Amino acid sequence: MTTEELLARSSQYIMNTYRRIPIVLVKGEGARVWDSNGREYLDFVAGIAVCSLGHSHPAIAEAIRNQAETLSHVSNLYHIEPQIHVAERLVTLSFADKAFFCNSGAEANEAAIKLARKYGHEIMGGKRFEIITMENSFHGRTLTTVTATGQRKFQLGFDPLPEGFRYVPFNDVSAVEKAITENTCAVMVEPIQAEGGIVIPDDDYLRRLRRLCDDKGILLILDEVQVGMGRTGTLFAYEQSGINPDIMTLAKALGNGFPVGAMLATDAAAAAFVPGNHASTFGGNPLGMAACLITIDTILNEGVLDNCKAVGSYFLDRLKHLKEDHDIIVDVRGRGLIVGIELSIAGDTIVERAMEKGVLINCTNGNILRFVPPLIITRDDVDMVVEVLDEVMGNA
Ligand SMILES: *Cc1c(COP(=O)(O)O)cnc(C)c1O
Repeated sequence: MTTEELLARSSQYIMNTYRRIPIVLVKGEGARVWDSNGREYLDFVAGIAVCSLGHSHPAIAEAIRNQAETLSHVSNLYHIEPQIHVAERLVTLSFADKAFFCNSGAEANEAAIKLARKYGHEIMGGKRFEIITMENSFHGRTLTTVTATGQRKFQLGFDPLPEGFRYVPFNDVSAVEKAITENTCAVMVEPIQAEGGIVIPDDDYLRRLRRLCDDKGILLILDEVQVGMGRTGTLFAYEQSGINPDIMTLAKALGNGFPVGAMLATDAAAAAFVPGNHASTFGGNPLGMAACLITIDTILNEGVLDNCKAVGSYFLDRLKHLKEDHDIIVDVRGRGLIVGIELSIAGDTIVERAMEKGVLINCTNGNILRFVPPLIITRDDVDMVVEVLDEVMGNA
């Protein structure tokens, strides 16, 4: 089928929920992808922070192939060997004592919200159900996670929304303190607001939130769906804050492209769930867990975190220099390889022009160019992107 025919059928048969760029990607290798016309692109989107080890990673492909030939799916009615290994890895590598598996970020957050409410009702005593989330946050698209999301634009048209959420400004601990009531069971926050525009809070923000939650006896939930699994240079972003959450959610890069989500918790919080409280048919199935296991091991064993830190700071440095030459750049910010350029204009024409020059980037929140490339990129890849940005911004 020609590209034109594919694009025509795409809009004929697929529900109109995405504003898509008119190319069809058909192949990937490392940080490169190819479209249906054979055109090559350097991919600084990586499926939106998903393919952190790059596309078509041979060890991941092999692990999925082997598992598919052995056992693809059973059910959580039974114990599942690769699920046990992934849970042990995640628990050993984090603050957590227990893991629950699902298939996406929204589901991981839904599980976290359910756990916090159950904890609030049964362990805190009283009828605590309210969760404080941040303005400009993003937690997913199910009815409950879109309600947790502190952005009205994602909620419009879906009323009535579930009750039990209060929003406060990000990076403002005293606003959280004022919003806490006798009904509050948890505070839920992204360590860096990603969809919201790569917004990085003050260094002591999480530490102060932790102290507040401890004082008030409420849970701290971190949504690391986008920043987890090495994106910020440490396996989990919270490691850089010196505190531990009670609950943390993961998804995007957890399976390097295989859809997997996880909700991790301390024993104290996890104790609120007993058999029958929560479940997922596909959650933690052998195929997904095989992808997860090899992804975790590859991140840890192949210098991925060091590369992320080193190339990330090189990228940030080069962008700060780029800012000096381009008035439309308002701000440059990032940590590891989650990097944003705030523009004084809408970002979509820059995204389009970069694509014409063979570089895929993304724009979030209207005017923030977002860069979430595979964590295995090189300085040469960064040089190419910066060069292309310099060209396409030159005549913006
Ligand atoms: C992407 C994202 C989600 C939603 O994940 P899905 O897999 O799309 O449901 C939730 N929280 C954050 C921080 C995200 O970046």
